[in-house]
Amino acid sequence: MKKIHCPRCSERLNFLGSEGFRFGRPASEPAVEVEVYSCPKCGKLEFFAAETSGISKVKCECGAVYDCDFPRCPSCGRNNDAMTASK
Ligand SMILES: [Zn+2]
Ligand SMILES: [Zn+2]
Repeated sequence: MKKIHCPRCSERLNFLGSEGFRFGRPASEPAVEVEVYSCPKCGKLEFFAAETSGISKVKCECGAVYDCDFPRCPSCGRNNDAMTASK
């Protein structure tokens, strides 16, 4: 969660929650995870692309991108080198 101040009145924004938005795209496409903040003073809403909660991504040799705490690629099943190499 970020500490954000309202661009209009400098009040500290409240974190409302995250939502999956499709922006009119078909249901077959993944929703964009968006974090919503609101200003308690003037009611301004601010939207941000959701943070990946500090989890960095790994790119597999097959081209799939997934969270580095996955033990293996969800696409091709190849072992996660980043996980097996370190620790
Ligand atoms: Zn405001
Ligand atoms: Zn893969």
